[in-house]
Amino acid sequence: MSARLVLLGPPGAGKGTQAARLAERLGVPAISTGDIFRTNIKGGTELGRKAQEYSSRGALVPDEITNAMVRDRLAQDDTAQGFLLDGYPRNVAQVAELDAILADAGLTLDLAVEITADPEVVIERLLKRAQIEGREDDTADVIRHRLDVYAEQTAPISGVYAERGLLAQVDGIGDVDEVTDRLLSAIGSAAR
Ligand code: AMP
Repeated sequence: MSARLVLLGPPGAGKGTQAARLAERLGVPAISTGDIFRTNIKGGTELGRKAQEYSSRGALVPDEITNAMVRDRLAQDDTAQGFLLDGYPRNVAQVAELDAILADAGLTLDLAVEITADPEVVIERLLKRAQIEGREDDTADVIRHRLDVYAEQTAPISGVYAERGLLAQVDGIGDVDEVTDRLLSAIGSAAR
C-alpha cells in the first residue's frame, strides 16, 4: 500500500499532532516543512538563517527555498511507500511544484486531507502553545499575521484539490483520538 498525502488546515488546527499519529499508523514519514526550518534555524545552517528572516514574522519562506528543500526531502528512500506532508504546499504555486516533483518520479498524490477548525479555537490553541513551547512565531501579532497569510495564500489550495476530486475535509474539533479516527477513515479509501 502506498499513501501519498497532504495534510491541510489552519495553523493551530492540530496538523503536527495528527501528522505524527497518522504517519505511525500508515507507516510513512510525516514531513513538516515548518519542523525542517526550525531544525535548521536551531542548527544555525545557511538554510536556517534564510528561513528565519521570514518565519520569525509569520511570512512564508520564498518558494524557491522551500520547493528545493521539499524536492530533496521527497527524493529520500524512506518516501518509497509514500509520505504525509504537513505544511506544504502552502500556496497555489507550491501545489504546481508538488505536482511536478511527483510527475518527475512518475507518481501522483492520493489525497489532500483538510483539518477544519474555527478561527477562534485556533487562536486560543496557538496562544496556549506559545506558553508551553515558546515558539518565536506564536506571539499574538505574529499569529494574526500567520492566519492572514493562511486565509490569503493557503486556504485557496483546498479548492484546487477539491476540483480534482482529491479533497477530504475532517472536523478538527474534539478529542485527539477521535480526530485521528476521522482522518484515518477519510484516508482509508484513498490510500492504495
Ligand atoms: P508551521 O510549523 O507549518 O506553522 O511553519 C512555520 C513557519 O515556517 C511558517 O510560518 C513559514 O514561515 C515557514 N513555512 C513552513 N512551511 C512553509 C511552506 N510550505 N512555504 C513557505 N514557508 C513555510
